[in-house]
Amino acid sequence: MPSNATPSLSPTAIAQLKDQVKQWAKELGFQDCGIASTDLGQHKSHLANWLDAGYHGELEYMSRHGTKRSNPAELVPGTVRVISLRMDYWPESAAAAEQILGADQKAYVSRYTLGRDYHKLIRKRLAKLGQKLTEAVANSNYRVFVDSAPVLERGLAELAGLGWIGKNTMLIHPQAGSYFFLAELFTDIPLPVDQPFSSKHCGSCRRCLDLCPTQAFVGPHLLDARRCISYLTIELKGSIPEELRPLIGNRVFGCDDCQLVCPWNKFTRPTTEQDFSPRHQLDRQEMIALFAWTEEEFLQRTEGSAIRRTGYAGWLRNLAVALGNATPSEAVIRALQSRADHPSVIVREHVTWALVQLKRHPLYRDRIV
Ligand code: SF4
Repeated sequence: MPSNATPSLSPTAIAQLKDQVKQWAKELGFQDCGIASTDLGQHKSHLANWLDAGYHGELEYMSRHGTKRSNPAELVPGTVRVISLRMDYWPESAAAAEQILGADQKAYVSRYTLGRDYHKLIRKRLAKLGQKLTEAVANSNYRVFVDSAPVLERGLAELAGLGWIGKNTMLIHPQAGSYFFLAELFTDIPLPVDQPFSSKHCGSCRRCLDLCPTQAFVGPHLLDARRCISYLTIELKGSIPEELRPLIGNRVFGCDDCQLVCPWNKFTRPTTEQDFSPRHQLDRQEMIALFAWTEEEFLQRTEGSAIRRTGYAGWLRNLAVALGNATPSEAVIRALQSRADHPSVIVREHVTWALVQLKRHPLYRDRIV
């Protein structure tokens, strides 16, 4: 966005434009829209402290951009407002999350990634919103973001009144829970800002902190990403620390536990976007079936899906851990053995671990003859 002079509009025109922006956002399929200034206030120091403590692990991109992440006007010169948008993703047709987490042979895939990758869809809608703004205010400029740049999206959304950041670090809306994507449009139009929530509404609750399978929360609002299952199964490229593997259970891509236990998610609103519906039955697949996918099948079935991010070896690594956490059976052991000579050292290492893990299971002798 070139840093032109800030467009000037009368107070009435600019107030009307704000209402229009919210209406356009709704028409484009966003469930909420709020406007904040570029001053991230306390979120800046929270980010700096989190990075200093090293809780970001290998999320090197979190620290790479210096102060740009906490200063939108530095990232995009000329920016004076950030429009934050919410799009709900909970797929109503998916198998119940708790049921899959409790099913020994099933693979759990985080609910946000059962369908098509959200980036493309949201970016297209954002571009349409930006286009409308440009048509409404000549010479105005905008840039859109969906996880694509160093943007402190939850802090900006909290300031824009889209919810509060819960102790689980997710943005929570009292009438919609936390199962939604966030996106941002940076603009040089000085739209009136929205009011943030006057307080956070977690109260004395600490279910997310206590029930996290890997105890990844160092304290309220403080996540040690290095222990987070989403990080371990998606972001981490190498070997998963052995002491954490048994705690991962059957979660093969991401984890929703800190949201599943959150009482505010009883207000979840299912998505109306067809793209977010489960594909290839990823909401209920058997681990063995997924582990049998060839690389070609993996590439074909994860086309247009965020799951591609792990790569094939990462996918097999995650599944090997999950199989190692299952109840031993001839079928599980045969599946693991079929990958014992896999070209990837990471896959082989996790397969070996899983086979040893199964042998230690109290039911191993009963189940395996
Ligand atoms: S589970 Fe409780 S403490 Fe955690 S985010 Fe939800 S309301 Fe807040």
